[in-house]
Amino acid sequence: MPFSTPALPWAADALAPYISANTLGFHHGKHHAGYVAKLNAAVEGTPYAEKSLETLIRETAGDATKGAIFNNAAQAWNHDFFWRSMSPTGGGEPQGALRQKIEAAFGSVEGFKKEFAAKAGTLFGSGWTWLVDNNGTLEIVQTVNAGNPMTVGKTPLLTLDVWEHAYYLDYQNRRPDFIQAYLDHLVNWDFAAANLPTD
Ligand code: MN
Repeated sequence: MPFSTPALPWAADALAPYISANTLGFHHGKHHAGYVAKLNAAVEGTPYAEKSLETLIRETAGDATKGAIFNNAAQAWNHDFFWRSMSPTGGGEPQGALRQKIEAAFGSVEGFKKEFAAKAGTLFGSGWTWLVDNNGTLEIVQTVNAGNPMTVGKTPLLTLDVWEHAYYLDYQNRRPDFIQAYLDHLVNWDFAAANLPTD
């Protein structure tokens, strides 16, 4: 099995009450692990079994004949990136160079939160909302299903999973409350700053 499911970067109950251990048990233990298992089945016996997730995502994006590999590789990558986008000591405000870039792009940290919440809240169906670096300028982008901004040359800094399985056990249909909890209490600004390109 070439790919495995990375452990969560904190204890399963560490994000409560904003995300419960019950949600994480299903989301990490069943959904994330399920994408990895399906990816392993899809690449078995092919040259893709020897490549990194990032390479699989870039090489199979937009190829309808490689949908099973793209979708499961991207979902595997996106979930690991999502866990690391959150911290039990998250929330608060970004500092330093990241803060300057956020203020340049969105006017203020509050402006960033408003735009991020609006984009995550209006994403129709299943997908992801991202803070990305696009050639030195920060942007908030939505991707549907397993989409990943790397496929269009943008560098992910943070992500939020807005598939219903990410919040339904804790919030039912109240996606806006889940988004606000992420922005106010969970978002890992140190992780985002570490993902800034160093050019
Ligand atoms: Mn998910």
